[in-house]
Amino acid sequence: MAEKTEAERLKEQLFMENKNTANVIDDAEMAQAFAFCEGYKAFLNAGKTEREVAAYAVAAAEENGFVPFDNTKAYAAGDKVYLCNRGKAVILAVIGRQSVRNGVRIAAAHIDSPRLDLKPNPLYEDTELALFKTHYYGGIKKYQWPTVPLALHGVIVRRDGTTVTVRIGEDDGDPQFVVTDLLPHLAASQMERKTPQIIKGEELNILIGSLPFKSDAGSDLVKLNIMKILNEKYGISEQDFLTAELEAVPAAKAADIGFDRSMIGSYGHDDRVCAYPALQAILEVDGAPEYTAVTVLTDKEETGSDGNTGLNSDYLRYFLADLGRCEGGIMGRDVLSKSKCLSADVNAAFDPTFASVMDPRNASYLNKGIVVTKYTGARGKGGTSDASAEFVGEVARVFDANGVNWQLGELGKVDEGGGGTVAKYIANMNVDVVDVGVPVLSMHAPFEVVAKTDVYMAKKAFLAFFEA
Ligand code: MN
Ligand code: MN
Repeated sequence: MAEKTEAERLKEQLFMENKNTANVIDDAEMAQAFAFCEGYKAFLNAGKTEREVAAYAVAAAEENGFVPFDNTKAYAAGDKVYLCNRGKAVILAVIGRQSVRNGVRIAAAHIDSPRLDLKPNPLYEDTELALFKTHYYGGIKKYQWPTVPLALHGVIVRRDGTTVTVRIGEDDGDPQFVVTDLLPHLAASQMERKTPQIIKGEELNILIGSLPFKSDAGSDLVKLNIMKILNEKYGISEQDFLTAELEAVPAAKAADIGFDRSMIGSYGHDDRVCAYPALQAILEVDGAPEYTAVTVLTDKEETGSDGNTGLNSDYLRYFLADLGRCEGGIMGRDVLSKSKCLSADVNAAFDPTFASVMDPRNASYLNKGIVVTKYTGARGKGGTSDASAEFVGEVARVFDANGVNWQLGELGKVDEGGGGTVAKYIANMNVDVVDVGVPVLSMHAPFEVVAKTDVYMAKKAFLAFFEA
């Protein structure tokens, strides 16, 4: 090999280089990364809604020796507890050796994803087709959702107070559902619409049936036939839709993407791609960590974190305050003020097909490791907590010391758009927070793409943070 020039040596010393994880880890670790992602794919298929992921997390917690948190008890280092908030959000904690007066280490990811929620009164018949009206949940490009096979998930609370769980369209042989679109032959005026209106919100109607109940006379017989099937299957009548949460999600299963199988395509990587590593990391915490480790899997991020299962509510604050109380009267605010958090959420990966929206020097890339996002927001950093240089530096040192490949990333060019995460809600509790997550292609589409090495690095990052 030729001798390096002075310039080459200086560049190595002074310039920053974000390496592809393939050039950072050895073959054995690459095999580990791929193996980890087999578990992730199973998780993706097992839980497509916050309720299902919360149930998965509770089951995993119990299998790993976590017990329901009791705020009247005292806990010892190494004790493992969990708290399930209304079946839609879960907190898991491993009690540390240090007093919680010295703060805790939090990884917070969200487990809700954009989808089509059924309206409270969804079922109707039009020209002998039965359909469900929907109201989309979270930020979607509405035109992406027609002609995508859909499954229906959720719960129905019957008038007698009993609950029935719905999950249909996932198993082999299950019927699926679909939003229809106009054929190109007759779409001349549709194509004249402004792009956000190509498919309008009130056009996201889900096709659910076409055969009438056999009768000589009467109206709404297709609707009647569907209601009869639903009554036989779920024991419900039409009024029970008013007390239901039914969500249409893409029916497709997670799949390897690429000849090299280096990526995963799936519905809802945002943010289960951070939730799974954050969950696995706390399950893998060995013994009692220095500081109490906390994984939060939260709901409602996609609609702004409001509501009692979102992180703009007090449930995390109360849990952390209770940890202080359990230790003997330590004030919640003292726990909070010393705590540190990785807000575990995705960022937009650089897409060469749509390069113009990115600043290539400040974008994140597939396979270059987890992305540290100092700030999100829009229009001059509006609506972001903007992590301090000191805290980003602290997190960077933990990653560097533990073989975590990481990169920085902004969410697109200045004034190109923007977004937010749960970081600001946690920061507003006087906690140090920075966003750390996995870069995603086609974010918020029915089928998103991530790289396997980045999923693996996320777990490694959260575990390093917990055990630092
Ligand atoms: Mn997200
Ligand atoms: Mn999102």
